[in-house]
Amino acid sequence: MKKVGFIGLGIMGKPMAINLMDAGYAILVLDTNKAAGDLTHKGAEAFSTPKEVASHSDIVITMLPDSPEVEEVVLGKDGVVEGIKEGTIFIDMSTIAPSTARKVYDALQEKKVQALDAPVSGGQVGAESGNLSIMVGGSQDAFDAVKPLFDVMGKSAVLIGDAGAGQMTKACNQMIVGMTIQAVAESFTLAKKAGVNLEKMREALLGGFAQSRILDLHGQRIIDRNFEPGFKIKLHRKDMNIALEAGKEFSVPLYGSALVASHMDAILASGKGEKDHSSIALLMEELAKVD
Ligand code: NAD
Repeated sequence: MKKVGFIGLGIMGKPMAINLMDAGYAILVLDTNKAAGDLTHKGAEAFSTPKEVASHSDIVITMLPDSPEVEEVVLGKDGVVEGIKEGTIFIDMSTIAPSTARKVYDALQEKKVQALDAPVSGGQVGAESGNLSIMVGGSQDAFDAVKPLFDVMGKSAVLIGDAGAGQMTKACNQMIVGMTIQAVAESFTLAKKAGVNLEKMREALLGGFAQSRILDLHGQRIIDRNFEPGFKIKLHRKDMNIALEAGKEFSVPLYGSALVASHMDAILASGKGEKDHSSIALLMEELAKVD
């Protein structure tokens, strides 16, 4: 069975790595937060540098917060690039800038290593149940070679195009998710202030054209007052920045995304960056003076 190095075992990475272990893959782990990364009791082997993980693996996966962490882990001192063997496949499943994905791809090409950018959608629930949607940039050969792993972690994996195409798709995904949360948060705030029963409203709307997973899951979070992550709003703000940068690069006005990003900034300013991204509802309630 192939040996899979897994670097970054947070809210998403840990359940993804567990699913691979349960499917029979040998897993080699590394996380700077030792408690987060501890899967040794389940049989994973732990290493202390990305270089060591890469040198012992047939496939290396990263699931890290942002572009700087991916650059450091792959290209930095004792990074993946220093240990990785020719023929290994590298998959970054974090959400990062498409330009960083292409930089990593180019650096690994020099080592005769195929790289895929393969960000995911589906959140913690999708990671735990192996139902992620995986959007991939890179070569068909590399995609085909690691498709069995994608099938363990996700319910769909689509090769979108060349290096960076997966990340550009994910930026679009995050725009839709962010603007849909804004829509759900605004409508729930109005309904609450107008005295409408939110549980009944959610139930009714889930049967109609406004139905969405965000109305379903985040609507329930708003009702339950559960704003623990899930997906930290500071990470979603990072994703909105990737989208806004792409809008600037291609001269595409992104009005809705800019508004949502500003709302996220207001939440970060109030020290709630670790909360779930559904906490946009808290801001809307505050603005509308809803208890
Ligand atoms: P997280 O903060 O829970 O986990 C990130 C992990 O990376 C942490 O355990 C951290 O200790 C580790 N880490 C950071 N720097 C490191 C380094 N240099 N070396 C080794 N480990 C390091 O974040 P998450 O929610 O799991 O998200 C990971 C990525 O997936 C992000 O890019 C995020 O945008 C994306 N994502 C998250 C969700 C979600 O719902 N949480 C959904 C889709 C995509």
